[in-house]
Amino acid sequence: MKTLNWINGQWVPADSGATFAVANPASREELGRVPDCGAAEARRALDAAASAFPAWAALPAIERANILFNVYAQMLHRAKELATLLTKENGKPIKEALGEIQYAADFVRWSAEEARRVYGETVPAAAAGKRHLVLKQPMGVVAAITPWNFPSAMITRKVAPALAAGCTVVIKPAEQTPLSALALAELFEEARLPAGVLNVITGNPVPIAGEMLAHPKVRKIAFTGSTEVGKLLMRGAADGLKRVALELGGHAPFIVFADADLDKAAEGCVANKFRNAGQTCICANRVYVQQEAHDAFAKKLVEKAAALVVGDGLDERTQVGPMIDEQGLKKVIEHVEDARRRGAKVLCGGRVKDGRWFEPTVLANVPPESRILREETFGPVAPVVAFRTEDEVLRLANDTPYGLAAYFYTKDASRLFRVAEALEDGIVGANDPSPGVPQAPFGGMKESGMGREGGKWGVEEYVEIKHVSIGL
Ligand code: NAP
Repeated sequence: MKTLNWINGQWVPADSGATFAVANPASREELGRVPDCGAAEARRALDAAASAFPAWAALPAIERANILFNVYAQMLHRAKELATLLTKENGKPIKEALGEIQYAADFVRWSAEEARRVYGETVPAAAAGKRHLVLKQPMGVVAAITPWNFPSAMITRKVAPALAAGCTVVIKPAEQTPLSALALAELFEEARLPAGVLNVITGNPVPIAGEMLAHPKVRKIAFTGSTEVGKLLMRGAADGLKRVALELGGHAPFIVFADADLDKAAEGCVANKFRNAGQTCICANRVYVQQEAHDAFAKKLVEKAAALVVGDGLDERTQVGPMIDEQGLKKVIEHVEDARRRGAKVLCGGRVKDGRWFEPTVLANVPPESRILREETFGPVAPVVAFRTEDEVLRLANDTPYGLAAYFYTKDASRLFRVAEALEDGIVGANDPSPGVPQAPFGGMKESGMGREGGKWGVEEYVEIKHVSIGL
């Protein structure tokens, strides 16, 4: 297990020698200590990425791709080891961790395939004797900051397309889950990625981000995390007019129309809502069910939610792991208590288990002013709300500053198009609870962010477009 930072091709401690502990959220056992770096180390990592950029950008795309293919193969080869580390520091069930490693690796493969298809264009000239070329060139140094809830995938979704496009990267992972980031860096080292092309730094986010925002060679800030921090970074990026890509918070509605297959909808709702103990940016935060189907759907949902196995993620039987930390648990408790106080009924769950888990919970009769219907809960709680008409539920679904993901179930083909087009979200799952795939764009509207990761759009985020006008 790597516990040093990877800067300019070297495994290094913090200048001060300071470290901070990484703990298993299920057992509280300390897993290791990683460097507590700050501004000086961040500047050195960014300088290294800037020095490495010209040679990396000039490398034929197939050579960059070959390194990524190698990393992809190693990720699959060592999937069990990477997934176990991920479960230990994040808490998610081992089956989900294996799924995340596959998903994370798929971004590496997709980006490697896409590296050779960053095509430019020629545009017909209006004047005789002129030619217009449109070139796509790598932007330069990318500074990336990632969250703890998908410790591997949020990294590869940025690093792989950036490297494929010819950019170099400095990444700061979340303080709860740096070990997965360092394990990925080790695979890049083994794949002989040149020194400085990728750098991983751990430590205090404020001075590190400060250097990322101030460094003149950084051309792009790629961030996944809360809307609050995303806004801070966007403000900070304004002075240097750095590009920003922001994958932020969500408040997904999950809508069940009365004409839907209620069994499939309940199954989809459980898979979507309770994945990663509800600590997923695109998981349902509000469940709207058409009046006629409300009771039948709620019954099915409760049966499935109450049957979920809660426990240590390392146990193969576990389906719901612990909350990441005390703060995360406290927010869930507050949301449930607030809804209860306002008159909501607890249909199942509703309690803390062994101090770190929250039971899979279904609430009914949740009043509209409840916090859980307005704020991101990030926990295993499904508040069910009845609605009457399509217009009404669309109004409710879109009445939020967030616009990341939305889901709905219907068998009516006309409604499927109408509702998909009317939802103000970057990702819509129509009869589909898991829409995230490497070949499609992932990202939010409104205060859920800007920019897209995944597919050809993910690679486009890391290129500059240059017009070369040629007189013959
Ligand atoms: P967070 O508090 O915003 O932290 C995310 C990252 O930002 C961490 O690396 C964190 O570092 C860093 N950070 C914290 N304060 C910072 C500051 N002042 N300046 C610069 N960086 C700072 O979010 P989180 O609680 O870890 O993650 C959950 C959030 O991420 C949720 O809102 C979720 O919806 C969102 N998310 C969105 C997507 C998406 O694709 N849209 C995907 C996953 C998660 P430290 O860990 O060192 O504090």
